[in-house]
Amino acid sequence: MATVAFIGLGNMGGPMAKNLVAAGHAVTVFDLVPEACAELEAAGASVAETAAAAVAGVDYVITMLPAGKHVRATYLGDDGNGLLSLLDGSTTVLDCSTIDAETARDVGLAAKDMGIGFMDSPVSGGVAAAAGGTLAFMCGGEAETFEKARLILADMGKNIFHAGPAGAGQVAKGCNNMLLAIHMIGTSEALEMGARHGLDPKVLSDIMLASSGRNWSLEVYNPYPGVMETAPASNGYQPGFMVDLMVKDLGLAMAIAEGAGFDNPMGQLARDLYEEHQKDGNGPRDFSSILEKLQSE
Ligand code: NAD
Repeated sequence: MATVAFIGLGNMGGPMAKNLVAAGHAVTVFDLVPEACAELEAAGASVAETAAAAVAGVDYVITMLPAGKHVRATYLGDDGNGLLSLLDGSTTVLDCSTIDAETARDVGLAAKDMGIGFMDSPVSGGVAAAAGGTLAFMCGGEAETFEKARLILADMGKNIFHAGPAGAGQVAKGCNNMLLAIHMIGTSEALEMGARHGLDPKVLSDIMLASSGRNWSLEVYNPYPGVMETAPASNGYQPGFMVDLMVKDLGLAMAIAEGAGFDNPMGQLARDLYEEHQKDGNGPRDFSSILEKLQSE
């Protein structure tokens, strides 16, 4: 049993914190939204009045916040008066938010200077994986911190990877989500091209699944309505992984590419297509709805 401060109880953080409570850890939570805290209190967590009050003397601090600016403000504060200034080497700090690699590196280096173990630990898997405890974690930080991190992350996920030093978790996440966008668009394009020649998308999917076009979008998340009963496409592209979040992740991937002076033409094209799709009013819909954009061309 560990003592854990969990900050950020939204769509992802809420169910992740509940899994820690269910696993028997003593969890103290904080969120700016009182209703989110009340839900965790009902599940067995303690609620703190502030983030600073939540972290006092805990084994782990875990954050699941919207973006880099929230993570920077939470840990570093305005002038070094953030949460890190309240901690010492007895606490392991895990930021599970999806943020820019630069902020993750900055917070990781600041923590290292203070003798605190920090890992950027973004996740793959959406709300269902958060609730089911089946997330994949991609961690960036020191090997010693990773050994401590995996002990607690194992109660929220099933695949836990050490990607490299501080920031490497965010780089891995950016690479993965850029590839996801690209193969979702490619899968949609191939299915629509076949359908326009009169092929049944289900038959074409079976052919490509048994051939070299096989990929995750085709296998478990088919974008063509009616091909796969459980996919968001067969339910009006609801619920799922929102176009808004894909656009956010592709923006982060572009910054990762630029940070290495790397030209990523397919990633840029995917970002442009998803941004246009978002502007057309599809932000809250599942990202596999990109098929409709291709159908409208
Ligand atoms: P969300 O907006 O539902 O939740 C964020 C929570 O953080 C909110 O409850 C908000 O009140 C709280 N918050 C914001 N600033 C705070 C602060 N300073 N102190 C305390 N609480 C604060 O977002 P989400 O869907 O849970 O996503 C969280 C992170 O996980 C994001 O970085 C997102 O990109 C990433 N992610 C989301 C998904 C998904 O499918 N939703 C999947 C993978 C990764």
